[in-house]
Amino acid sequence: MKTVLITGGSRGIGAEMVRAFAHAGYGVSFVYLHSRTAAEALAAGTGAQAICADVGVEEEADAAARLALSHWGHIDVLVNNAGISQSALLTDLTGEEWRRMMAVHLDSAFYLSRALLPSMIARHAGKIINVSSMWGQVGASCEVHYSAAKAGLIGFTQALSKEVGPSGITVNCIAPGVIDTDMNAALTEEDRAALIDETPLCRIGRVADVAAAAAFLASEGADFITGQVLAVNGGIVV
Ligand code: NAD
Repeated sequence: MKTVLITGGSRGIGAEMVRAFAHAGYGVSFVYLHSRTAAEALAAGTGAQAICADVGVEEEADAAARLALSHWGHIDVLVNNAGISQSALLTDLTGEEWRRMMAVHLDSAFYLSRALLPSMIARHAGKIINVSSMWGQVGASCEVHYSAAKAGLIGFTQALSKEVGPSGITVNCIAPGVIDTDMNAALTEEDRAALIDETPLCRIGRVADVAAAAAFLASEGADFITGQVLAVNGGIVV
């Protein structure tokens, strides 16, 4: 059985990935931090293993990887999806807020990749998928720390793909545009209309759009694709 570990699986894009991979027959483990009730319901409905951990904390990320590995015996696919957002001027950011943004998005990808790579290398197979953002490609005002962390994930992806390619492992990024999740709950109807207006495909993205991209990058059809950024953004950033 193919297996996947998805971070940030209790809601939004990650929860849709849990459903999509489970539906495709994968053994699924997912990590969440809050929303225990939602996580337990998702686990019960999909047969997935739910792991409560803060992936931005080294010991917790390592423990989550160990739990998933011991549950399934091996992990074929790692999806680093957990994320937080914050809108603030750079000059108003505290050092703690800056470091937290880096920890949740970037440190977590390092901890989990480091924890799972030895077993992937031993099996000469594995796929790592990092969820970046269009803001990691072009930068967002008032989200400098978010944009920097997401751009860092792209650099992480490119460098790691070169390092582990000879070991049979692919590493790719997905860069979503605006996707309809709780992360964007603060958008007003006016904001949404303006975003739709700017988007060539004339709509906000759906969680299923991103889950389908992850399923593709995890599939055998993507075996010769590595180090790439797949934009799932309706054309808003080209
Ligand atoms: P969301 O807020 O709906 O869900 C985030 C998930 O991450 C939750 O399950 C939460 O529990 C988990 N999480 C947060 N911090 C965590 C931590 N420290 N440890 C473990 N789990 C943690 O967000 P979403 O919209 O589904 O976003 C998923 C990913 O996609 C994020 O990395 C986000 O930056 C990225 N993204 C989202 C959009 C968008 O428009 N929604 C656009 C581009 C990129």
